[in-house]
Amino acid sequence: PPILRLRGVRKRFGLDTALDGVDLDVRAGEVLAIMGPSGSGKSTLLHVLAGVYAPDEGSAHYLDTLVSELGEADRARLRLEEFGFVFQFGQLLPDLTALDNVALPLLIAGRPRRQAVRQAKSWLTQLGLADHAGKRPGELSGGQAQRVAIARALVTAPRIVFADEPTGSLDSLSAEQVMATLLELAKGTGATVVIVTHDPRVAAYADREVVVRDGRISGVGILA
Ligand code: ADP
Ligand code: ADP
Repeated sequence: PPILRLRGVRKRFGLDTALDGVDLDVRAGEVLAIMGPSGSGKSTLLHVLAGVYAPDEGSAHYLDTLVSELGEADRARLRLEEFGFVFQFGQLLPDLTALDNVALPLLIAGRPRRQAVRQAKSWLTQLGLADHAGKRPGELSGGQAQRVAIARALVTAPRIVFADEPTGSLDSLSAEQVMATLLELAKGTGATVVIVTHDPRVAAYADREVVVRDGRISGVGILA
């Protein structure tokens, strides 16, 4: 069975229909790229898949969990326990060091500080950032900051990593490196990866891509 399943999903913002009847299955362990023009609904689709938004109509499953019927608090707990997130602008906390930014999700999940710090250090080292652990985001390059964001997304060993234009703010060399690193590490942990991008070079790293147009999938997205 798919790890994520949407059926008949609609999502509106006021009069604006962002998703207009989406069916999509995501397979466990795959890297899925969501492509399409600006404003087509890619971000909204990612947010529904990740349980950030509840759809107005239709159903969203994560494995056997009917996410679309969960309340805010249960969806927040599901996201914290099962998912990792990487955004276009890392959204690192500016007053925390790289190390503390990466440790934070573990601390929020209730892990002991010493264990959280040890795991955060290990991920920073894997991302080539051991020497930058004590720096704040403002002291890092864009590519370094995105690698910190990747460490933070992976530190909880998520089943699924959601990335929304993860390389959108980077030059093309940094973007290539960040994508390669993200996917290599995610594959190493067996995580499923869902990436929103309009960059075909980023999508080239995916196992499969779906194209969103006007709030609908205009490509094959459903498992047989
Ligand atoms: P994309 O990621 O493809 O650029 P989005 O999913 O961000 O598209 O947006 C799809 C449509 O929904 C757009 O018209 C956008 O303005 C609207 N939209 C998305 N998120 C919100 C929001 N939080 N509030 C209001 N409108 C939104
Ligand atoms: P994208 O790069 O996917 O186009 P946006 O910059 O459109 O992303 O959106 C970034 C965030 O703002 C998303 O969480 C999206 O849901 C939200 N958003 C997008 N459009 C609107 C809007 N018209 N009003 C309020 N929030 C929006």
